[in-house]
Amino acid sequence: MGGQRLRRRVLVTGGAGFLGSHLCERLVERGHDVLCVDNFFTGTRDNIAHLLGNPRFELMRHDVTFPLYVELDEIYNLACPASPVHYQFDPVQTTKTSVHGAINMLGLAKRVKARILQASTSEVYGDPAEHPQTEAYWGNVNPVGIRSCYDEGKRCAETLFFDYRRQHRLRIKVARIFNTYGPRMHPDDGRVVSSFVMQALRGEDITIFGDGRQTRSFCYVSDLIDGLMRLMDTPDDVTGPVNLGNPNEMTMIELATRIIELSGSTSKLVFRPLPSDDPRQRRPDISRAHELLDWRPTVELDEGLRRTIGYFKGMLGRPEALAAT
Ligand code: NAD
Ligand code: UDP
Repeated sequence: MGGQRLRRRVLVTGGAGFLGSHLCERLVERGHDVLCVDNFFTGTRDNIAHLLGNPRFELMRHDVTFPLYVELDEIYNLACPASPVHYQFDPVQTTKTSVHGAINMLGLAKRVKARILQASTSEVYGDPAEHPQTEAYWGNVNPVGIRSCYDEGKRCAETLFFDYRRQHRLRIKVARIFNTYGPRMHPDDGRVVSSFVMQALRGEDITIFGDGRQTRSFCYVSDLIDGLMRLMDTPDDVTGPVNLGNPNEMTMIELATRIIELSGSTSKLVFRPLPSDDPRQRRPDISRAHELLDWRPTVELDEGLRRTIGYFKGMLGRPEALAAT
């Protein structure tokens, strides 16, 4: 069985993005052969430049909304813009990426009998009426709003994963990823951590949307990648969905205050209108991940923010790196 090889051939779609690039790195370090597929919509060559000379790493420019014919043992399906600014730029393409992308990757997994993991999201819970969110909660999602291309695309992808399992006995894994941050986030993606850190470092006003009392729970990237790889390595009867995130919940005002303090910035908070359908609260219940994967996040917020601030500081010192994003 391909999945049991020690050295596996692994496809990472969206591998040049924020999470994908960290995943590719960790898989190569583990001794696997990694094929990174990306259309560079939000990902960059810079994110994976350090892997390009490695014989275990291969890069292919490809859009997952088109079929892909390769041979492999495992697929991590991460391709999809993840920040509201990017996924709302071309919402039809966002839905296509989630839905056609899932169909194409599931078809590939079926042909080569590969294990396949879907990077789903806490957005499947929408603006949650249950708090914290367990995997049993079905969510509260607006099907026709500006976030729907992402939320409903990801929900449909989950449906496809479970139907391919029921109908074709595929070995599937579904991870519901909660807000994750760290080095290699796109500096202009409008996500809250990257935005606040860039604003703080440039001494610009920190833009708080709404009253800033909405909450999120932030997970550092290395913890998240560890969770994804553990989930992939579970026995075939473990399909998920499994929440992966850090339950350390905070308001956007608290986050801004931490970032200002840790970066030694003089930036002030300014308040801007809340985008529509912006969830009021979000915190993962990670009991299932703990039980099935023996997983828990280990990186404290301050430590993770320090590393992220260090990364963006380095980027500001290299205008060519900023220009490449
Ligand atoms: P990202 O935007 O940095 O990465 C997405 C990657 O997919 C990029 O490299 C992009 O170029 C690529 N891509 C987009 N459309 C594509 C297409 N049609 N064909 C091929 N490649 C395509 O975002 P990220 O934060 O690294 O997110 C990775 C995955 O994890 C996404 O599926 C996202 O929905 C999911 N996720 C992320 C978070 C988070 O907080 N980072 C939370 C929940 C879910
Ligand atoms: N947010 C903010 N200022 C910003 C960017 C985002 O206050 O400059 C808020 C946003 O309204 C949301 C939270 O931060 O309530 C997280 O936003 P992000 O886009 O990072 O993630 P998501 O809403 O998808 O969880």
